[in-house]
This record gives sequence, structure tokens and C-alpha cells, in this order.
Amino acid sequence: MKRKISGVTIELRKGDITRQKDCEAVVNAANARLQTGGGVAGAIHKAAGPQLEKEAVPLGPLEPGEAVITGAFELPNRYVIHCLGPVYGKDKPEAELLANCYSNALDLAEEHRLPSIAFPAISTGIFGYPIEEAARVAITTIIGKITEIKHLKNIVFVLYSSKDLEVYEKILEQIL
Ligand code: ADP
Repeated sequence: MKRKISGVTIELRKGDITRQKDCEAVVNAANARLQTGGGVAGAIHKAAGPQLEKEAVPLGPLEPGEAVITGAFELPNRYVIHCLGPVYGKDKPEAELLANCYSNALDLAEEHRLPSIAFPAISTGIFGYPIEEAARVAITTIIGKITEIKHLKNIVFVLYSSKDLEVYEKILEQIL
């Protein structure tokens, strides 16, 4: 599903964040220490190779909501933007902290004049954020900043399951 708003295409895709060849940057659902791990972080570090940890770890530790940018090494992208999402029920206010991830990632992409970025559903795995609430925060934050965007042309949400994709589709339709 694709929707164009203020010249920016928002696309929802089912897939693996490590296989987004047409995106200049992919976002990592990182841990505070910017190390490999499970879920998205494990997949991104595995695909990028050990140089990613070498560049990323000295930039940490991150606080919830923060984002940093590194190279992408063996990934088919130019950059990885690492965001630490909130742990649901622990890091509060969680909606604000999750919104900060999307907002800070967009700011980094704009600073680097990137035309495209792919986001996973930050915090909705190990960190326990319910997918529907998280999708609403992700989509409203991006749409809320759309008029500030100068360089990005494509913003992609990559959902790992058909169920998560359906939730995002429903919420994008409700919001637009
Ligand atoms: P967090 O610790 O921020 O919750 P996770 O990596 O555990 O991050 O999960 C975030 C979301 O990404 C979950 O919805 C999970 O299903 C999904 N996910 C896991 N692996 C991948 C992948 N390779 N590509 C895209 N999404 C993924």
C-alpha cells in the first residue's frame, strides 16, 4: 500500500528490514549498547557484518527515543539509523519516547539529505509495545513532520508479518 502526502510517498510493505535494496537508510530497533542481539538488531548486525558493531558501540549507550547513524557495511543500504525504542510498561511516557525515535530518525535522514528510509515496527517485539498503538504513534509522527521534509521522497514501513501489515494498513487508512 502506498499513499502520497505533500510530495512524500508513504509505503507499507511486508518483508525483512535487511533486504530493502531501494532504501538509502534502514532503521535498526537497537538496544541501548548498540550491540547485536535478537529481532531486528540481530538480523541487521548479522547482515551488515562485525564492522557495524565496531562503529556503533562507541556512539552508545542510547537513552529511549534517541537515534544515531552509522554506515551499513554489507547491507544493501548506505546507512543504518539506530533507534532505541521504549520498553512498554517501563520507559515512560512510552508514546512520547516512541515518537521521538521516528522524529529523530527522520531528522538524521534529512541532515544526510537521504531520499529514502525504511522503518521496522520499533519496540513491538522484545520491548512489548502493542502493534496497534505503536503503528498509530509511528504513522502520526511521520505525517506530523511531513511538511518539514525537504529531501525524503519515500518513507517505507517494513512489517515482518501479514498481521502487522494489516494493522498498519488499517491505521494509515483511518488517519488519512
Ligand atoms: P524491539 O526490541 O524494539 O521490540 P524487535 O527487534 O524485538 O525490537 O522487534 C521489532 C519488530 O520487528 C517486531 O514487530 C518484530 O516482529 C519485527 N522484526 C523482527 N525481525 C525483523 C526483520 N528481520 N525485519 C523486519 N522486522 C522484523
